[in-house]
Amino acid sequence: MGRLEGKVAVITGAAQGMGAAEALLFVAEGARVVLADVQDETGREVAAALGPVAAYEHLDVRSAAEWGGVVEATVQRFGRLDVLVNNAGIIRVATIEALDMADYHEMVAVNQTGVLLGMRAALAPLIAAGGGSIVNISSFNGLHGLPGMAAYTGSKFAVRGMTKVAAMEFGRYGIRVNSVHPWGILGTSMGQADDFADVDARSIFSNQPIPRVGRADEVARVVAFLASDDSSYCTGAEWVVDGGFGAGPSIPGLATDPTDPTDPQTRLIRQRD
Ligand code: NAD
Repeated sequence: MGRLEGKVAVITGAAQGMGAAEALLFVAEGARVVLADVQDETGREVAAALGPVAAYEHLDVRSAAEWGGVVEATVQRFGRLDVLVNNAGIIRVATIEALDMADYHEMVAVNQTGVLLGMRAALAPLIAAGGGSIVNISSFNGLHGLPGMAAYTGSKFAVRGMTKVAAMEFGRYGIRVNSVHPWGILGTSMGQADDFADVDARSIFSNQPIPRVGRADEVARVVAFLASDDSSYCTGAEWVVDGGFGAGPSIPGLATDPTDPTDPQTRLIRQRD
């Protein structure tokens, strides 16, 4: 029996990337899933490939009216709602000085307001189902700053904060709310955005504790855990999926390779021995 057997989920931004990976895993784990996105053609194709346990609904997460329609369609089709994954998101990189205010407002509208509207729309059916789980996809940028990402980072810090408030407000209904903080998931279109074309990915990822890029399915497995009853005592928490990138800074010259005789730490250990 799958970990999500009998559960009905809505996943936003599910036409591609992490959202599509989450939909695939949720179905494999026994859930029925409504994939919601603005990319209707691709979204329909992804849902169709998953079979009759999946359906596609158009949703621009910025619209409260469209949220109402998606939640209603989900309950009509599958009878209930147990899980909401607020995954849809956009990124545009620009310094505070150069940031186009239209871009700023769009990132806030999709990444931040979209999550709030989703939690509001899902609340009544989740209560009617006797409780459930909301998983909000924040980011590494919901925990740390990065230059060029004021708007994105601000919106993702907001997701992390709203998650904690929702966990406190919804706990009485048996609804758990957690945030997920991925970093460097390069198989997605966001991970491959033009904004990152000049970034030396190899040097960044080779210095982190798990020295490689992450995969969408590695995020999906954490999301499935939070959606499932396996995480029944977890709420208001931050779930980091970053290969250890956020564990601390990597300091050049202070490596930790015990086989390298020139490594300062190795020399220290040898002196001690
Ligand atoms: P992606 O660009 O591949 O997918 C994002 C999806 O969201 C797309 O299908 C897009 O059509 C949809 N979307 C955009 N605007 C929408 C709107 N207004 N309404 C509904 N859907 C909309 O990106 P991804 O990398 O799979 O990102 C998924 C989530 O993970 C995002 O919230 C992103 O901020 C977050 N994230 C990604 C990374 C990474 O490295 N890829 C790292 C940290 C966090």
